[in-house]
Amino acid sequence: MARPPTPITSARPAAGLTAAEARERLQRDGPNVLPHAKPVSPLALFLGQLTHFFAVLLWGATVLALLGGMPELAIAIAVVVVVNGGFAFVQEYRADRAAQRLQALLPMRVTVRRDGHRLVISAEDLVVGDVVLLEAGDRVSADLRLASTAGLEMDESTLTGESAAVRPDPGSLVFAGTYVVEGLAEAVVESTGANTRLAGIAALTETTRPPLGPLAVQLHLVVRAVAAIAVSVGLLFFGLSVSLGTPPHEGFLFAVGVTVALVPEGLLPTVTLSLARAAQRMAGEHALVRRLDAVETLGLTTFICSDKTGTLTRNEMTVVEVWTPDGTVQVRGEGYRPEGVVEGAPAAQESVRRLALSAALASTGRSRQADGDWKPVGDPMEVALHVLAMRLGVDVNGTQAVDPTTARFPFDPRRRRMSAVSGGLLHVKGSPDSVIGLCAAVPGSEEAVHAMSTRGLRLLAVARRELTPAERASPTAALEEQGLVLLGVVGIEDPPRDGVREAVARCRRAGIHLAVVTGDHPGTAAAIATEVGLRVPGAPVLEGRDLPEDLDELGELLDHDGVVLARVEPEQKLRIARALHRRGHVVAMTGDGVNDGPALREADIGVAMGLGGTDVAREAADLVLLDDHFATIVAAVNQGRATFANIRRFLTYHLTDNVAELTPFVVWALTGGSFPLAIGVLQVLALDIGTDLLPALALGAEPANPRTLAGPIR
Ligand code: ADP
Ligand code: MG
Repeated sequence: MARPPTPITSARPAAGLTAAEARERLQRDGPNVLPHAKPVSPLALFLGQLTHFFAVLLWGATVLALLGGMPELAIAIAVVVVVNGGFAFVQEYRADRAAQRLQALLPMRVTVRRDGHRLVISAEDLVVGDVVLLEAGDRVSADLRLASTAGLEMDESTLTGESAAVRPDPGSLVFAGTYVVEGLAEAVVESTGANTRLAGIAALTETTRPPLGPLAVQLHLVVRAVAAIAVSVGLLFFGLSVSLGTPPHEGFLFAVGVTVALVPEGLLPTVTLSLARAAQRMAGEHALVRRLDAVETLGLTTFICSDKTGTLTRNEMTVVEVWTPDGTVQVRGEGYRPEGVVEGAPAAQESVRRLALSAALASTGRSRQADGDWKPVGDPMEVALHVLAMRLGVDVNGTQAVDPTTARFPFDPRRRRMSAVSGGLLHVKGSPDSVIGLCAAVPGSEEAVHAMSTRGLRLLAVARRELTPAERASPTAALEEQGLVLLGVVGIEDPPRDGVREAVARCRRAGIHLAVVTGDHPGTAAAIATEVGLRVPGAPVLEGRDLPEDLDELGELLDHDGVVLARVEPEQKLRIARALHRRGHVVAMTGDGVNDGPALREADIGVAMGLGGTDVAREAADLVLLDDHFATIVAAVNQGRATFANIRRFLTYHLTDNVAELTPFVVWALTGGSFPLAIGVLQVLALDIGTDLLPALALGAEPANPRTLAGPIR
């Protein structure tokens, strides 16, 4: 399992640049963006359309027609190639542009320290000398020199191709384009934009076109097969007609007609454009697909595994109740403002104050006044703890100024807790099941956890312990594991999002199964799932540790609608996706953490969050929810289904209308020419342009309608 993290050991973190310095440097050095790969020029794109497989085939026919002394035919075929190419060019060009626009929708963010404050800025605004705060899941946005590290592990495979994680020491460089897979670090920007190592490498291997997805690969195969059939049929009928006594040049005319009629020239670009259009419509609904192919897979989704925090809930956290061994206290207040009303017995309030200080010291979030309002900086749950402390009149910042945090052990979804050393004490916060067991028993704690969880509150247990001088000198995360004193349990409210209930109902009508998969407490998870109507009465509430090892057994257990899976570890999500896939489901699975990458890749559709969540998860995902909202997944599935239906419609149309075009030739050939050719080769070519291109375009552009999600996918 995970190595125990080592602490951050710098006592006084650097205050960072001032806002003025940063502005000046940004002006001097320019924004931190990689030099753009040159897009393929429109002319090159157009020429590409005139020289691809079918075009070459038809050019061949043109030459043969010329040689055979049929200039009209040669001209006609050339016109077909150029007009087709023109259409395809326009479609591909628009698809390309759409894809580029989509990329720009997901800005990269970085946490920095400026003027002594934590600040989240756009990666483009990063300048040399900025102090960057890295944590697990972050993508590095510039070349940085590490100042301090805590259990830092980097994935540098994007630069080196080496997939094993590396553990750089303070003083060494980490490069733009690499990822933090574990731990924390502070680092100073050394070079940005075009001066980064990534920019140097990118210049060497500039590619603007993403590799083809599985759908495109399959379509290419289909198209090639059809082309081979077309040519063979052409040759066959050429032989047949000649042997039936037709003059060779008429036979040739005939063969060309048959071949051209059968070749599905417009098919690939129409598919591409139709996918790109859908991707754009999805982006309009806050769903960003990272591969065009995902559009089609989304349409086939039959099972959605959603997490809870931020997706079903708003991720706006407020502490509403705190249980301590000395009594319970209710807290009320608005947003992230420090003012609040605290109700409870004086003794209980005193205990809650002690708890709040520990919780805030072990937290990395802060509420900060900006533009007349209080804004969260950091994870909303962490911020809620700082707000709690302020509402109770506990001066966390003052404490830290006198007595800085000297070591920090970051949150880890397997330990499910995190801690910090400050003032000779270890302050721990984490999920109740991961903390209470490490504390001396306190009567009433389990009952409090049970009662608060069934109300849908998110729970955190807070504990602390004194450290011996030796332990203070070299603290480790193992200190969390013994002799803790439980200070109490915090109940955090995170209300469901608007619109989730309706989205859940839409899925039900569409025959899509739903499950909640969360790291949270089963009581909390079940309460929230019930509140939004996702939980089906009688469907099981399971915990990660109860899941069977055997995939078939697991699949059978999970293959129901409305299942709640709690206390699930990231690794188990992978098996859940796999087990459901084996049962024949097309699985969409959400994930936000650094360890969710494998599960997101394993699922048919990996879904990551654009607002919360880590860069690692976004990188591994097929779909990014720009608003983190569950309803957005459903909207994307809706668009995907509509597009899938469109593609199926025009594929059918495309392939059948070619058969129709072929029929007169077959009749003519089989009757040995006694039944006159109902339609000439030139007319077939004209038909091809008229009936293949425009109707296919129209069929491909059909938008979703209210019936799209009205029943299971057919
Ligand atoms: P979710 O699936 O709801 O995002 P998580 O896996 O993030 O659940 O969290 C599971 C539990 O771990 C939470 O209920 C909470 O008790 C605890 N936890 C989550 N984040 C933190 C944190 N930053 N510090 C301490 N404990 C945490
Ligand atoms: Mg979480």
